[in-house]
Parts: sequence; C-alpha cells; structure tokens
Amino acid sequence: MNRNSTAVDVVVVGAGVAGLYAAHTLCRHGLTVQGFESAGGVGGTWYHNRYPGARCDVESVDYSFSFDDDLQQEWTWSERFATQPEILAYLEHVADRFDLRRHFRFSTRVVSAEFDEADSVWRIRTDDGEVTTGRYCIFATGCLSATNLPDIPGRDDFRGAAYHTGSWPHDAVEFTGKRVGVIGTGSSGMQSIPLIAEEADHLYVFQRTANYSIPAGNRPFDAEAMREIKATYAERRRLSRLSGGGSPFTPYPHGALEVTDEERTRVYDEWWNRGGVLFSKAFPDQLTDLDANNTARVYWENKIRQIVTDPELAETLIPDDHPIGTKRIVTDSGYFATFNRDNVTLVDLRRTPIDRINESGIATTAGQYDLDIIVYATGFDAMTGALSRIDIRGRGDRRLVDEWAAGPRTYLGLGVSGFPNMFLVNGPGSPGPLANMVLTSEQHLDWIVDCIEYVDERGAVTVEADPDAVDAWVAELNERASTTLFPSANSWYLGANIPGKPRVFMPFIGGFAAYGQILDEVAGAGYKGFALGGPDRKAL
Ligand code: FAD
Ligand code: NAP
Repeated sequence: MNRNSTAVDVVVVGAGVAGLYAAHTLCRHGLTVQGFESAGGVGGTWYHNRYPGARCDVESVDYSFSFDDDLQQEWTWSERFATQPEILAYLEHVADRFDLRRHFRFSTRVVSAEFDEADSVWRIRTDDGEVTTGRYCIFATGCLSATNLPDIPGRDDFRGAAYHTGSWPHDAVEFTGKRVGVIGTGSSGMQSIPLIAEEADHLYVFQRTANYSIPAGNRPFDAEAMREIKATYAERRRLSRLSGGGSPFTPYPHGALEVTDEERTRVYDEWWNRGGVLFSKAFPDQLTDLDANNTARVYWENKIRQIVTDPELAETLIPDDHPIGTKRIVTDSGYFATFNRDNVTLVDLRRTPIDRINESGIATTAGQYDLDIIVYATGFDAMTGALSRIDIRGRGDRRLVDEWAAGPRTYLGLGVSGFPNMFLVNGPGSPGPLANMVLTSEQHLDWIVDCIEYVDERGAVTVEADPDAVDAWVAELNERASTTLFPSANSWYLGANIPGKPRVFMPFIGGFAAYGQILDEVAGAGYKGFALGGPDRKAL
C-alpha cells in the first residue's frame, strides 16, 4: 500500500531549465505542483556536467530565460559563452528569485508513473517509497541526462579513478602529475580535453570517430557590450523566435553554390569568426545539399590543417564519415591546437580499437596505456533514455518502453497516444536539441499550460493525443529529416550511439519558428489531434 499519498494538479519530473520554468508557470496559473529531482539541487544539465571546460554553445544572453524582462535586465553574463558554474549560479538565482525550490523534492528519483484510468490521475512512485497523485504529469527529464557508460570489457577492473563527464563529482578532480585517458571526442570530450591537457602529466585522447569543431570566439563582456545587449533584448528575442535555431541569426540569403568563390569564402570567414555551432548554418542549403556541404567541409579542413602542425595527425583528426553539421558541430576553446602539445597523444581507435580495460589502464590492439584517471566523455542515451529508465504505464497498463520499442512515437513531441494527461518537454518529435533549449522549454511549457487551462475550462478530465495524429507526426518527422543530410550521420539524433537502439531520427528538424507556428495552429484549432474526455469517460 502507499506509504503516503499527496494529490496535486501537476507532477513535474526534473528541476533543470524546463522543470524550473514548469513550476513557475504552472503556479502562476493557479495550479498546484509537486516536483521531483533525483539530483541534490536545481540545474539539470548544469548541475551534473561539472567537467573542466563545460560551457554553453548558444550565447548566454540567448541561452537564458525570456519570460521575465526584469530578470534578463538584472542578470549580467560575464562572457559570450558562460561556463558551467556561472550557468548553474544563474539557474540557482532563478530558483531563489521565483521561490521555486519549495515545489521540488530533491535527491528523489521517480521510479514509476502509472495512469489510473478509473480516477483519471497519474500515480507517481518515488525511490523513497512514496506515491504522489497528479491530474497531469510533465516529464521534464532532459534529452541529454541519461549518461551512456559503454560496456567495454574489464571496465570495472580499473584501479584508478574513473569519471563520466555527465555525472562529474562536485569536488575538483586533480589532474596534475597524472596520466589521463579521455574516451570520446564529442562536445564534452572536445571541451574538456584542452583544460585537462594543461594540467595532466600526459593526456591520451581515445578517438573512435573524428569530429567537427569550431573555436567559440569567446570573449568577456565589458559593461558597454552588456548595456547594448540589454538595450536591444526585445529585438534579440523577437529575432530568436523567428529563427530556426532559437538564437537571433539567419543564414546568408543565397545558397553556397549560387555565389562566387570569393563571396563564399567571405561568408565562411564571417561565420567562422562568429564561432562554434552556428557555422553549420552559414548558407541555407549547407545541410540539405551535399555539394553545398562539401564547400563548408573543405573550408573547415583547410583551417584545421593550418592549426595542427603534424600533417598526419591533422588527417586523423579530420572526419571522413559524415557531412559537416550533421552531428552538432562542437564549440571549442583550443581543441585542435592541444594536439601540438608534447604531453598529448591521440589514439586512433579506428586503427587500433580498445581490446579491454584492465587494472592499470586501457589495452588497445596496439598495446597498453597505463593511466591514473579515465574520463568517459561517451555521451548520453539521448531523448528517450531518461524516460525509458522510468516505468511509465498508460491506459490498459501499456508500457511506454514497449510502445516505443521501434522508436519514439509522439504527437508534436508533447503527447503520446494511450498516455492521457502526460506531457513531455523537449521530447522526441520536438525541435528541442536542434535549438536553444531554454527557449524551447518556455515554448513547450507555455503551450502545455494553455492546453491544461483549455481542458479544465471545458470540464474535461483527460486530454490525449489521437493515434492518427501520432502517425501523421511521425511520418512528418521522417519526411522532413529525409530531405536533409542528417540521416547519413551515426549521431545520437538517430540513436546510433547506443548499441541496439532503433535508428530513427528523433527531433523535429523544421526549426524552432516553424514548430512554434504548428503549435499555435494546433491550439487555435481547439487542440487539433488531441481528444478530450469527460468525467463519465465519454469523449467531449
Ligand atoms: P535537464 O537539464 O537534463 O534536466 C532534467 C533533470 O531531470 C535532471 O536534473 C535529472 O536529474 C532529472 N531527472 C531525470 N530523470 C529523473 C527521474 N526519474 N526522477 C527525478 N529526476 C529525474 N542546449 C542548448 O540549447 N545550448 C547549450 O549551450 C547547451 N549546452 C549543453 C552542454 C552540455 C554539457 C549538455 C550535456 C547539454 C547541453 N545542452 C545545451 C542541452 C541541455 O541539456 C539543455 O539546454 C537544457 O539544459 C535541458 O534542460 P531540461 O530541463 O530539459 O533537462
Ligand atoms: P557525444 O556527442 O555522443 O560523444 C560521445 C563520444 O564518445 C563520441 O566521440 C563517441 O564516439 C565516443 N564513444 C562512445 N562510446 C564509445 C566507446 N565504446 N568507445 C570509444 N568511444 C566511444 O556525447 P557528448 O560529447 O557528451 O555530447 C552530447 C551532446 O550534448 C552534444 O551533441 C551537445 O548537444 C550536448 N553538449 C553540448 C555542449 C556544449 O558545447 N554546450 C557540451 C557537451 C555536450 P563515436 O562517435 O564513434 O560513437
């Protein structure tokens, strides 16, 4: 039997960017909330990812809440791309400023969520044995929160220290005088490698797949720069809402193949200097036309060959397996130059794969690397991982993991057929990870709260995605993805980083603004594609 049972309007799982805003906006709309967070505090991604060099790749002034102008005017970012401690401090400030911590129970993991059809409520069980009942349940569990620790033979035999970038310890990790191995060269690896190299006695970078990265072009803000940004914040946000990626930038108005060589180079120079991930959007056809993409790739490769002094090493660091931008381009701070250091060795796992991990380090087919520390920068079971680790059951005891065995199936990334009154934030089928996720979190939650009000005002007790609407949305996601180069990369967008995970392109690729328009149309048409159910369990 239930040890305890609290009843609220909405249960929110997760206290990252999305969970914090959920608690704020739900309360402002007069709804009662109980939130749960497995971590010891707020912040989500920015609580867990404390590895050296962790920082955002969307500019901080954009990667911050827009719902409160006083907040954006009063908070001052110290640099273009803030580090993890500063972003966490910001989210803690937001939690305190809007008194949000009181809504959450921390260090409390949700283990199961069951829809009770008789009472039309969700029963949420936590790892302390308690059960909370909510009319609605919002999973703000994060699309990059379930860490992927690869099952390498002998992994647990290692006698040194081992850390995953996505669950980094709170106490500083001492690399000085140590032999360190980093496995993984995605964003987390590429961000941390330059800093670890500065401290370590020797750093071995275990690279399975080379990756694209562009220097951040980071710089501190002086008072004048910040004043200017604050004076034009409203316009910045307006442009962000009209954009594909949720920040105030639009691609060059002509295709990469429509311009002269000089013009193309000028545009690439400009976007290279702008820094980071945005380079994938310099030209509008870069991610849809392989010839256009190749112009970006050739430009990028020449830059890397100028930075890395050993030509053979440069070739090993240059990807040859996917078009540039079809995995998120990393935003780095000196990554490629790090390989010019004497204390850094690149281990090419394509040529010499890992055999096993043993007591003293990593054994590849080329020999043994003795290590004091192994850093797993091996990513996440993205988009579905956090949800599949909870036993979620909808109508007729249907399990979400079974429903999604062949890949996630949602309507708008927000609702799932057979799982009434359950909403996902930044879920599969939403544009979340392809855009600025602070703004996508606000976008999704504003829509969800309006939807809840609509349902409540009509005296309905359930709202549920129609199976036909789910089918149509999944078809639309696939259709849109197939017109791009994205499906050709073995990325986490496709689940390709997790052995056995179905290969399905999970995010909505049509862009932040286009998705916002669809949400408005759906709401304007009386939540088209969702069915409302009355207290007598009849359709309204
Ligand atoms: P999260 O921040 O992941 O929060 C989810 C929370 O749910 C976590 O705290 C987790 O502990 C909790 N949780 C999960 N399951 C349970 C459970 N069963 N019970 C209780 N609690 C649970 N995006 C950008 O747009 N720009 C960036 O610059 C950017 N940088 C990033 C850098 C890193 C290192 C990483 C990993 C991701 C980055 N992202 C970035 C993506 C980032 O995840 C989002 O921007 C955003 O922080 C997600 O917020 P969220 O609240 O949706 O999820
Ligand atoms: P990731 O992009 O999935 O990279 C994981 C890396 O680990 C890849 O290089 C992968 O190689 C390697 N790997 C995984 N399993 C391995 C194994 N068994 N043996 C050897 N290598 C293995 O993960 P991430 O770097 O954590 O980034 C995930 C996402 O989080 C990013 O794309 C981004 O959206 C977000 N992020 C953003 C920032 C930022 O700049 N703000 C920072 C960190 C993360 P393969 O490619 O061969 O699989």
